[in-house]
Amino acid sequence: MRAFEATQIYFERAAEKLELDPGISQMLEMPKREVQVQVTVERDNGELVNYVGFRVQHDNSRGPMKGGLRYHPEVNLDEVRALASLMTWKTAVVDLPYGGAKGGIGVDPNELSVRELERLTRAFVDQIHDIVGPDTDIPAPDMGTDYRVMGWFRNQWEKYHGFHPAVITGKPVEEYGAKGREEATGRGVGLLTVKLCKRIARKPPETRVAIQGFGNVGSHAAKFLHEAEFPVVAVSDVSGTYYDADGLNIPDLFRHKLHHPRGLLEGYSHCEVLPMQALLSLPGVDVLIPAALGGVIREDNVDEIQASVIVEGANGPVWPDADLELERRGITVLPDILANAGGVTVSYFEWVQNRQHYRWSLDRVRQELDRTMSDAFENVWQTAQQFDVSLRTAAFMIGINRVRRANELAGWHRSGG
Ligand code: NAD
Repeated sequence: MRAFEATQIYFERAAEKLELDPGISQMLEMPKREVQVQVTVERDNGELVNYVGFRVQHDNSRGPMKGGLRYHPEVNLDEVRALASLMTWKTAVVDLPYGGAKGGIGVDPNELSVRELERLTRAFVDQIHDIVGPDTDIPAPDMGTDYRVMGWFRNQWEKYHGFHPAVITGKPVEEYGAKGREEATGRGVGLLTVKLCKRIARKPPETRVAIQGFGNVGSHAAKFLHEAEFPVVAVSDVSGTYYDADGLNIPDLFRHKLHHPRGLLEGYSHCEVLPMQALLSLPGVDVLIPAALGGVIREDNVDEIQASVIVEGANGPVWPDADLELERRGITVLPDILANAGGVTVSYFEWVQNRQHYRWSLDRVRQELDRTMSDAFENVWQTAQQFDVSLRTAAFMIGINRVRRANELAGWHRSGG
């Protein structure tokens, strides 16, 4: 199955419940604009390499479009289209005044030097600078990109358009970034995991957590849950699965990752080390948090899942057939468009601060993040109860309905930008 097809299936399940008119449904599903560009970089040894870059702008009926930039070898138009669409529903579920977009380059950033990565980012900006901007489309970090990439992006864009730090979020904190942006997605995942567990009467010391991916999202979710006294018994990255039935020492793993040249857990020896794939099906795990790639829980491996709760830190980790099976087995899934919305929420706070030339304290960022995520969670939970649907369908219903309403108020005229 392809990523956009999966997103469409989730959209259609919710559209059916909302009894959406087919014309409106089609209008909301179809991306507004898709751009594909050539990105040529000179390697440090003088060799020229060419990559393909994308920016898909899905919808702007509720505000400027917003979505991350992904650097990964498997980035392709279909995946970027799916992720752009998810951003539209995500910003609507948490009620941010934004639409949805996504971008990326089909490249393995680990194969490039820091200077090559910078040249790649600047070359990409040269190709797309005229379609992004603080009032039109605002990129942010995603897999394979970080605050440095955001800083280079802003600097290159400003060469064309002048001073506008709000053109991109996730910037270095000392260069107009927001305090708390880096931790925000993982923190939001942690916050809602705690909320969900409370709602279904699961207490921290007896609720064992496993997290796939120990990058930005996975590591901060692990930290938050560890501090909330949930035993995090397993985490994984491309180097393997790290397991301790009594709970891992997360601060120690954090330190190890910080000192590894590629930010991996490779070489960590204070626990059991299992193959990378083992994480999804570990026995005795209550909460599973996929926080790496999309499409990892599918029809062919869904039967191996032993957890009773899944919190989607990654975008699109569960394919629709597997999702139905999980629902049939009574496994609660907190969907990506709600669970990992903490990143875009703090990106919104960063954008607001940039526009006001004002800085918030870390406490204020955390408080507002907590409030935004909690409100959205309550709304999704109530909708799921009211319509007797899964949390995913409820989240899609809320998102779709808000975007539909914005279009209705605009007299069904799609705006430019
Ligand atoms: P990242 O690049 O910082 O980390 C990815 C992690 O996953 C790394 O630890 C990597 O080693 C690991 N990984 C990759 N393939 C794996 C595999 N097959 N098995 C186990 N581990 C594997 O990326 P990130 O920013 O943490 O993003 C992770 C996911 O969260 C993505 O789906 C992304 O779209 C989503 N997301 C990120 C943000 C954000 O703010 N960064 C916001 C919303 C959603």
